[in-house]
Amino acid sequence: RKPRSVALATLERPRRCELCGAAARLRCGRCRITHYCDVDHQKADWVSIHEKICQLLVPVRTSLPFLIPEEERKRGVEQLVKRQKYIIDLTYSTAQKFLWDGKHEKAMPAALHALRFSTDVYGSSSVQLVPAYLLLAEACIGVGHHLQASKYLSQAQWIVLRTPDCSAAVQHRLHRSLGLLCAAEGNFEQALYHLANDIYLASSTFGLKSIETSGGCFHMANVFFCQNKMDIADSLYAEVSKTSTHPVSVSLFFFFFCALFNVFLFLTAFNMMVTISAF
Ligand SMILES: [Zn+2]
Ligand SMILES: [Zn+2]
Repeated sequence: RKPRSVALATLERPRRCELCGAAARLRCGRCRITHYCDVDHQKADWVSIHEKICQLLVPVRTSLPFLIPEEERKRGVEQLVKRQKYIIDLTYSTAQKFLWDGKHEKAMPAALHALRFSTDVYGSSSVQLVPAYLLLAEACIGVGHHLQASKYLSQAQWIVLRTPDCSAAVQHRLHRSLGLLCAAEGNFEQALYHLANDIYLASSTFGLKSIETSGGCFHMANVFFCQNKMDIADSLYAEVSKTSTHPVSVSLFFFFFCALFNVFLFLTAFNMMVTISAF
């Protein structure tokens, strides 16, 4: 199936592009309520998510009639929230699947919709928005838009900092994303700091044997590999591969590793102080 579009009548009030917010010239011919600035953006939205949600958007974006009994309005609102939550699940899982397949560009519109609908349902400062921000950041890192990725991660970080009871699972994922962004930017020390937090939070929530924990170890090994520290990278890779059989050795390894890392940080700080005092 291909997206159908119709040119907008010139007298209609200005509409905004679904993807970029620019003035729209095109409209989806199926739902007739979604607008685009050009064919490229319509195509991008279609192959990412619009094909799946085109018809679902119609009841969600059509406002309730004004003069209806209170009871009926209440039911209407409940129905609306239920539909919006369904769209959040669908857009989120679609974006996630594209990311798993390495299709970062394709994941972007779906992730954007996951964020938009989450904002509609939960408000702009809810911790429920964090997963969508992380999806968007991951997609941006994948296509090399590091600045945009760091903007999304700052939003997520701001929300997490303002949520005192934020779960370790959410924080672990935030540190993972921050670590991957720093690694992509070549800021390896900062990447190791975030990945160490990621691994600590993941192991305390999901256990040392978990795929979440070994995922963090794997990324950390990659950072050491990039730094040309082959010995430590190799032993980390080895630990990742035998995580399921030797949980105790992993915890010992990480205890040892964290101690080493702290010594390293201390030495760096000490070096800096010496350099500064030399002036
Ligand atoms: Zn556009
Ligand atoms: Zn449509």
